[in-house]
Amino acid sequence: MENWWQQPVTALKGIGSKRAEAFARLEIVTVGDVLNFYPRLDSYIDYSHLATIRELKTDGTRQIFEAEALRAVERYSGGGKRYAVITVKDETGYAEIFLFGAQRFQARRFKPGSRILITGRVKPGRNAAKAVSEALLQLCDEENLDHSVGILPVYNLTESLTQQNLRAAVRQALQLAKEYGLPETVPETIRKQYGFLSRLDSVSNIHFPESMERFRLAKKRLVYEELFLLQCGLMLNREHNHDGRPGIKHGRNGDTVRQVLHNLPFTLTESQQKAWADISGDMEDVKPMRRLLQGDVGSGKTVIAALALAKAAENGFQGCIMAPTGILAQQHLETLTEFFKETGISIRILTSNTKTAERRKILQELADGSLKILVGTHALLQEDVVFAHLALVVTDEQHRFGVNQRAALVNKSEYAPDVLIMTATPIPRTLALTVYGDVETSVMRGMPPGRKAVETLCYTGDMRHKIYAGMVRQIQAGRQVYVVCASIEESEAMEGIRSVTDVYAEMKKTWLKDFPCGLLHGKLKPAEKDEIMEAFAAGRLKCLITTTVIEVGVNVPNATLMIVENADRFGLAQLHQLRGRVGRGDKQSYCVLLTDNQEPDNLARLTVLHNSNDGFELAQRDLELRGAGQLFGLRQHGLPDLRLADILRDTDVLLAARKDALRVLARPELRQEMLQGAANLFDSRFAGIFNS
Ligand code: ADP
Ligand code: MG
Repeated sequence: MENWWQQPVTALKGIGSKRAEAFARLEIVTVGDVLNFYPRLDSYIDYSHLATIRELKTDGTRQIFEAEALRAVERYSGGGKRYAVITVKDETGYAEIFLFGAQRFQARRFKPGSRILITGRVKPGRNAAKAVSEALLQLCDEENLDHSVGILPVYNLTESLTQQNLRAAVRQALQLAKEYGLPETVPETIRKQYGFLSRLDSVSNIHFPESMERFRLAKKRLVYEELFLLQCGLMLNREHNHDGRPGIKHGRNGDTVRQVLHNLPFTLTESQQKAWADISGDMEDVKPMRRLLQGDVGSGKTVIAALALAKAAENGFQGCIMAPTGILAQQHLETLTEFFKETGISIRILTSNTKTAERRKILQELADGSLKILVGTHALLQEDVVFAHLALVVTDEQHRFGVNQRAALVNKSEYAPDVLIMTATPIPRTLALTVYGDVETSVMRGMPPGRKAVETLCYTGDMRHKIYAGMVRQIQAGRQVYVVCASIEESEAMEGIRSVTDVYAEMKKTWLKDFPCGLLHGKLKPAEKDEIMEAFAAGRLKCLITTTVIEVGVNVPNATLMIVENADRFGLAQLHQLRGRVGRGDKQSYCVLLTDNQEPDNLARLTVLHNSNDGFELAQRDLELRGAGQLFGLRQHGLPDLRLADILRDTDVLLAARKDALRVLARPELRQEMLQGAANLFDSRFAGIFNS
């Protein structure tokens, strides 16, 4: 059967159209997707040993054994609920299997004398020696024995699918792979060099390990494979975008830079001076700049961008700065206009809201080179936005932009423009290499002088009313408030999560019925979001009830209180970013973290925020506490999410894979083999970076 992996999952036994829908929700559409859906690597269940009843450990762990059914009875629990108990025996003793809920109907299937294969949690029993709950029962035939004994995978599933459904699908897909072959994905020389298992053995052992040693080998190869193909894809992408255009060499800092420095109502901090020295040095070099400017929220990155834009302009070139939202772009426009006064340099803004006539004028001035600085959003990426001499591309809060978007902007120049990426998230070196390629980094630590630290308090939900009363007092005193929630709608919410729509509805009826408030979340249209944000920034709305969409750099100095609902749902670094929205004026500001999760670990974690205002330190703590996978999804960079590899933990593999990728791309026959291999992965996650 050719290309069996492209067949729809319905080609497998036991999967009809209904179940196929459930698979589709896990992004499993084809038989190949089934194989690429890896189990949780920390949760295999070891059923490799079929125990006797006497051997069963009564510590509540799941175990597997085989026994003969003696009798089944129905009983009533204290609460009047019916349940079934099947008594079983083998040569070593007796056990009772408890079946609750709908499961009790199963009892009928196991007539006295039938042999049952039982998996379940085993505890000490009352009538028999062992009591088994959460049991899975099967008639003990060859096939069931074959499929149930061994090291079994556990998958992350949605409600409508069981582990059994998935295991059965994977077994069939593996069977097809064995019969018709699973093509290789990594060039042979590399497989030999590292002594990797074949792809078939690897995939087979990641799902159903023959032993933990084989599992380890399988994982080693698959981790490498992911990182290797990711690196190859990224390098191809960059090759495509860096077509040997010449870079630009700027002169020493001149009048415009001096005028901007003069216009600042403050002097640069030491770390700003250092960052500016790095950047102006880069710009004076003919090699195109690729620099990441990392600085905590409020550390003053915008000034640095302004200086770089001034430098490009005084050398006769154009520069642009792209922000992730319209409101941020607007704020940049205002700040820059202030910084550039008396320089004679005009600055314009282009967003999706720009009127047609205005837009036409901007495009004209860009094309004839008279407009030197353009601020904007994704609207800058449109094809008809053409610059005469674009020399500098600044992106703010870059992690909101994808790899391809960044490339689109950089390609708008006959030169290779200098690229400055500003981010408030401290990004580990290996991640930066992956996401941005070969970038250099400037880090600004600390804050400009005279900043009042936000006071952070952590309370459990029973204090909510007191906190809300405090909120009303702030509003009455003329200030503004953010209430941040973890999810959008009730339907998406998990138990115990206060959704933003619910909180909004509740507040409007009670605490905030006398004040205008806004509701903001990611499902609104960009124009609606901008409108609400603007109303809040202008002070027309007193309270903004929102999801994390406000995370990125908006500046509302009059907002002095932020309340975070279900704070335990957020990472420390994220909470820190959120908290950066208050404390922007001269008044003392507060951030109140509400949580119903009373576990000591959680409370200890949130207390870290109370004690520290240093985003870099917090990000470090977050890494220790939550792991890299949670923090740095590649998807938000327009890259495939990794399933097995962890960009931080697997640093060595990443660096090795990077080297190998360079070597492979330099050799035409290896390059061809790699491209074929990438196609053989039949993984839609990777399609994006290989096809662009
Ligand atoms: P971010 O790094 O989060 O983008 P901004 O550039 O918005 O930070 O700066 C935050 C605030 O700090 C702004 O109001 C800015 O004018 C002010 N600021 C920046 N640099 C300094 C400085 N050296 N001294 C005093 N205030 C500064
Ligand atoms: Mg900023």
